[in-house]
Amino acid sequence: MKFSKLAQYYEKLEATSKRLELVDILSKLFKDSNAKEIGKICYLIQGRVAPFFEPIEIGMAESMVAQAVARAYGPTSPRLRGVKNPKDEVLKLYRRKGNMGLAARELAAKHHHSGDLTVGEVFEELVKIAKFTGKGTVEQKVSTLAEILKSLDPVSVKHVVNIPLGTLRLGIGDPTVLDALSIAKKGDRTLRPILEDAYNKTSDLGYVVETFFKHGESGLKNIKLVVGKPVRPALAERLPSAEEAVKRLGSEFAAEPKFDGFRVAAHKDGDRVSLFSRNLENTTHAFPDLVEGVKKEVRAKSAIIEGEAIAYNPQTEEFLPFQETTKRRRKYKIEEMAKELPLVLFAFDLLYLNGKNVADKPYRERRKLLSEIIHKEGRVVRLAEERVLHKADEIKKFFDEAVSEGLEGLMLKKLDSPYVAGGRGFHWIKFKRSQAGELTDTVDCVLLGVYAGKGKRTEFGVGGLLVGVYDKKKDEFVTISRIGTGLTDEEFRKVNVMARKLRVSHKPARVNAKIEPTFWVKPKEVLEIYADEITKSPVHTAGEKNGVGYALRFPRLVKFREDRRAEDATTVNEIEKMYHAQFKKR
Ligand code: ATP
Repeated sequence: MKFSKLAQYYEKLEATSKRLELVDILSKLFKDSNAKEIGKICYLIQGRVAPFFEPIEIGMAESMVAQAVARAYGPTSPRLRGVKNPKDEVLKLYRRKGNMGLAARELAAKHHHSGDLTVGEVFEELVKIAKFTGKGTVEQKVSTLAEILKSLDPVSVKHVVNIPLGTLRLGIGDPTVLDALSIAKKGDRTLRPILEDAYNKTSDLGYVVETFFKHGESGLKNIKLVVGKPVRPALAERLPSAEEAVKRLGSEFAAEPKFDGFRVAAHKDGDRVSLFSRNLENTTHAFPDLVEGVKKEVRAKSAIIEGEAIAYNPQTEEFLPFQETTKRRRKYKIEEMAKELPLVLFAFDLLYLNGKNVADKPYRERRKLLSEIIHKEGRVVRLAEERVLHKADEIKKFFDEAVSEGLEGLMLKKLDSPYVAGGRGFHWIKFKRSQAGELTDTVDCVLLGVYAGKGKRTEFGVGGLLVGVYDKKKDEFVTISRIGTGLTDEEFRKVNVMARKLRVSHKPARVNAKIEPTFWVKPKEVLEIYADEITKSPVHTAGEKNGVGYALRFPRLVKFREDRRAEDATTVNEIEKMYHAQFKKR
């Protein structure tokens, strides 16, 4: 496919925010694509040249892109010709238009483009730009992008320029892509479950879709776990009481402490180790101590293990609270912090061992295999404690013990259940200590907008937040609360910095709201919110029926959840369940 054709699809996608229309346009695009290019198209429509978990970035910010645009059109654009500093002229136009793509399109209009590149060619060139390193990188990146631009029509230019800057305005989530694929190939959504299953195992949309185009449904069913491609994590359900948990779990089940750190999936292939976070980001470079630990202490040729990492004080050998652990999530001074706050990884699951997928085996067997490759008293990687229990009383006793030791609560697990990638289910049930014991859990909300600060808060720039949850069915974000109190001055300042980076001029495509904040932000940051109660409200759109949605009563911030993507926020479905569970408890 020529890139100019893909660009026409970009135009159509950009013009709508209605999910059904997005799905319809995408399914037409997929029908128009072949097996060789479909994977690349899937990355490109999300503004990437690799699956999102690979740390490949094009690495060009505004100034460099402006330089490439100036280089491409300097000789032909009447606006740039003869100007002393054409790059500054491009930046001026960009500021006026508010988008680099729009500026570049205008400048490209007078240029006779020398070619008509294919999607594959543009993709390969962008990958090349991402890979330039060392001396002369800037010049190489600028000249390669300028060459691409010269060979494209103005509409294509508009979109290509927005890719490195992350400013494509399409708003297409993964579920929307999967729906559109099913429709393209089958005419309805019935393939969604097997597509999703394959996606949950590898998290690589391009790889799944390419396999589907090449080998059909049976190809999808054969997709295996791959060391190096993150598995979408299994997640826990919540229940209001230990008695209800026993009803679900049966007469024998596993109970483990719920450690309050961050989740790590460690992929080991011989001496190569990669680490992935809860939201599937590749975090290998950030935790050299864990990489060494997994390399030395996991006694397997290849494995995928999951665990929770917690910082501890090497002098007192005490585990530290979340606020300390989270200091390890940083981009700079990584080695120093690794010495100051070393991590211990409490391994709790095993998905892959010595070339074989073991995720389908019952938990009882996975745990046994895990205990054979990991030492209880390992220095960096340790086996999480586990007790096999039978009764509600035993749960309560263990829960009290865990909480009194400063742990977050308990995880209960079905012993005969396989590992269910990518979703909440009753094979795992979590019990968390909660400050007032009212709601069964905190809510992970997405920051959607900000209200300007008044009085003392003018200083912070932010006076209140508009937050939402994720409607998975509709692939959109819906509002659930306005938060005006419950943040420290420091936290208000932090939100202000976050919000400014994510500020957008219009309500983003995937946000559904009835109220307007002072300004909207791109849905990206996730905040863990504690509330007294979930109530109904005509103001909010979360789970809205007949004009009434759900709202949080007395919300306050617990912590920033840097390990969440916006789509990992609490879902409307979960809010509904939590709403009903609060009545059962009384
Ligand atoms: P939370 O905000 O409660 O951590 P979550 O959305 O990350 O929730 P859940 O499935 O609801 O995920 O809770 C399980 C989380 O608890 C895991 O993601 C993991 O980070 C953490 N955890 C701590 N100890 C364990 C354990 N023993 N087994 C499984 N998960 C554990």
